[in-house]
Amino acid sequence: MILRKLIMVGIIALMVFAGGIPLLNQRNFKEVAVKGPGITEVFKLSKYFEGIKGTIADTDVFVFKGQEEGGKVLLMAGTHENEISAMLTAFLFLENLTVQKGTVYLIPHFNYSGSLGTQPGGGFPLYYSFKTPWGEKKYRMGDRGLQQLDQWPDPDVYVHYPDKQLLSYIDARNTNRSWPGRPNGFLAERITYAAMQMMKEEKIDVAIDLHEAEVMFPVTNCIVVPDQSRQIALGVSMSVKAKEKFENHLEPSPSSFRGLSHREIGDYSDTLPFLFESPGPGLDQITGPKTNELLMSGKDGFILEASKYGILYVPYDETGWSMEKRVGQHASLALEVIKQFSRRNPDRTLEVSGPRYPEIVEKGLGSFFTDPSTVDPSMIIYQ
Ligand SMILES: [Zn+2]
Repeated sequence: MILRKLIMVGIIALMVFAGGIPLLNQRNFKEVAVKGPGITEVFKLSKYFEGIKGTIADTDVFVFKGQEEGGKVLLMAGTHENEISAMLTAFLFLENLTVQKGTVYLIPHFNYSGSLGTQPGGGFPLYYSFKTPWGEKKYRMGDRGLQQLDQWPDPDVYVHYPDKQLLSYIDARNTNRSWPGRPNGFLAERITYAAMQMMKEEKIDVAIDLHEAEVMFPVTNCIVVPDQSRQIALGVSMSVKAKEKFENHLEPSPSSFRGLSHREIGDYSDTLPFLFESPGPGLDQITGPKTNELLMSGKDGFILEASKYGILYVPYDETGWSMEKRVGQHASLALEVIKQFSRRNPDRTLEVSGPRYPEIVEKGLGSFFTDPSTVDPSMIIYQ
C-alpha cells in the first residue's frame, strides 16, 4: 500500500518536474539581436529610479542620439508581452533605426517580467519565430502582465494610484493600468514610476506605447490619444492613408478610465502620449490552435467566418493580417509621429530614418535582420 502511494507520488513529482523544465528554459532563453549603427548608448531604466534596481523589472533602454541636438522621443514595446508585433517593431528598430537629429530612446521589453512566460492555459506556444535569409529568429512568447513569480500575491481588487479607481485584481500586474505609478507600490507601479521619472528628467517630448489587439475588439488598428496629441495623430493617420495606403483610425483616450499610458503620461507630465494598436488575430478567443503560423500570419478560418457576420473591427480575408503589415504599420506610424511632431515644433525637431510599411511588406521582415554569427561578439545584444 505504502509502496503504491510512493510510486504515485514519484509519478506526480516526475510530471511536475517534466512540465516545469520547458517553462524554466523559456524563462532563461535569451533573445538575440545585433547592435544597429544608430545605437549610441545602453542603460537600465533604474537610472531614473533606484527602486527597481536589481529586480527583474530593470529593463534595458537603448539610446539613438543624433549628431545634432533636437527633440526627444521614447518608444516602448512590451507593455503587454503577448502582443508580439510591438516587440518585433522594437527589434527591427534596434538593428535599423538611425537618428540624425534629436534622440530616440527605445525599450524593447517595457514589462520584462511579462516576457518570461506565456499566459497560463492560453494555449500559446512558448516561443514564436520567423524566417530570415540566414535562418530562424526566435523569441519568448510572453504574457499580458508581470509573472506571478515576480509580483505576488494579487490583491482581491486593484486600487489604482492615485485615482483610487477599482480595477480587476489581475490589473495589479498590468503595466498599462499602473501609470503614473508610485515608488513604493507594486512592481508594476514602480516600472511606470521609473518611466515617468525618465520622461520628466529627460524632458521627453513624445512617448509611443506599442500594442496589438484582438480584431473582435473595437480598439484595434488605431492610435489612441488624449486631446493634446490629437492634431498630430490626425495628421499621421491621414498621411499614412494617402502615402502608404493603410488605414489607422483615431480613438480618444477616455478620461474616466485610469492607469493607461495614453491617459496618465499626458496628465502627469508634459510628454505627449500615443498608443498604437495593430490588429492581432492570434489574440482573439475564437481562433483555432494558437500556432506560430497563426501568430505570424494572422490567418485563421474561424476569424474568416466571423468576418462574414460583420463582427470584426478590421477588414479581413484569407490573406490574414501578416506580421509584415502589423510591424510595418507600427514602424510607419512611429516615424510619422516623429515627423509630424517635428513639423509642429521647430525648436524640438528630430530627423529619424528607419524601414517603413511599404518596404517591410515588400521585402519581408526577415530581410532586415543581421545574422548574429557573422558579427563581432561585442555587437550582440541579449534580451
Ligand atoms: Zn496591449
